[in-house]
Amino acid sequence: MLFTVYTRQQLLKCIQTARSSGKKIGFVPTMGALHQGHIALIRQAKASCDIVICSIFVNPTQFNNPTDLEKYPRTVAADRALLYEANCDVLFLPEVSELYPDGLQLMPINLNGLDTVMEGVFRPGHFAGMVTVVNHLFYAVMPDVAFFGEKDFQQLAIIKYMVNELNLPISIVACATIRETDGLAMSSRNIHLTTEERKQASVIFKTMEACSKLKSDKTPGQLKQWVKNEIERSGIFGLEYVSFVDAATLQPLQQWQLAPQRICLAVTTSKTRLIDNMAL
Ligand code: AMP
Repeated sequence: MLFTVYTRQQLLKCIQTARSSGKKIGFVPTMGALHQGHIALIRQAKASCDIVICSIFVNPTQFNNPTDLEKYPRTVAADRALLYEANCDVLFLPEVSELYPDGLQLMPINLNGLDTVMEGVFRPGHFAGMVTVVNHLFYAVMPDVAFFGEKDFQQLAIIKYMVNELNLPISIVACATIRETDGLAMSSRNIHLTTEERKQASVIFKTMEACSKLKSDKTPGQLKQWVKNEIERSGIFGLEYVSFVDAATLQPLQQWQLAPQRICLAVTTSKTRLIDNMAL
C-alpha cells in the first residue's frame, strides 16, 4: 500500500504511527522522473527499514538556471506506479510553499570547501539550495536512515558532512550508481538526449573506466587532457570539467595517492548536461 501525502501535517501522522510501534524509518529524497537508479535506493531502504518514505520535490533553490528548472521532467503518475511496485510505503509530494513557508531562503552553512569545487564552480548556488531543501526534508520526515546515490558523489559528500556538522541523528547510506547496459548512468536527464547522443553516450563510462589502467602511465594533469580528447572526439559531447579528486575532501589531486580517489566529470550535449563519477 502506497500512501501519498502532501503536507507536513499529513506526513507527521504517518511518522507518529510508525514511531509508536517502534518502526525504523528510511528516507529516499528525489526530484522525481524516477528510474531504476531511484528504485534501487527504495529497494535498499526497504531491505533495512520498516517504513520507507520517498519524497518527490523539484527544488527551485538548487537550480541556477531557470530554463533547467522549467524543463526538468515531471512524471508523477508514472513515478507513483514505480514506487508502488517497489513496495514504497509513503510518497511525500509537497508544494513549494509547504517546504518553504517563509519564502525561498537559504540555510547558511559552511561546507568546508566541499561546495566550491566541480559542480560548485559550474552551478553556483546549487549546493546552498540542495542542503537547504535536504534539511527541510530531514526535519519533515525525521528518518533514522537516509539513502543517497553515489551518482551524485559531491552531493553525497556534502550531505555526510552536513549531518555530521549539525549532529543530526540520521545515518546516511551511500548506494552504488545504477547504469544502463552500455554503462551510461541512469539519470532523469537522459530523456533529453537525442538518438545519436544516446548511442554515443557510453563513451562517458568507457573513458572513466579506462582511467584506472592509464593512471600508471600518466599524471593526473596528463590524464585530464586524455579524457577531454576522448569525450570530445566524436564532436557530440563537450567536457565541462574532469577532476581527479581525493574521495574524502573532493580536492583535486596533483599526483596519484593510496587513499581512495575518484574521477568526477560533467559532460554537455545539445540540450542537457550529464554528470558521472567512478572510483579509481
Ligand atoms: P535526483 O532525483 O536526481 O535528485 O536523485 C535522487 C537520488 O537518487 C539521489 O540520491 C541520486 O544520487 C540518486 N540517483 C540518481 N540516479 C542514480 C543512479 N543512476 N544510480 C543510483 N542512484 C541514483
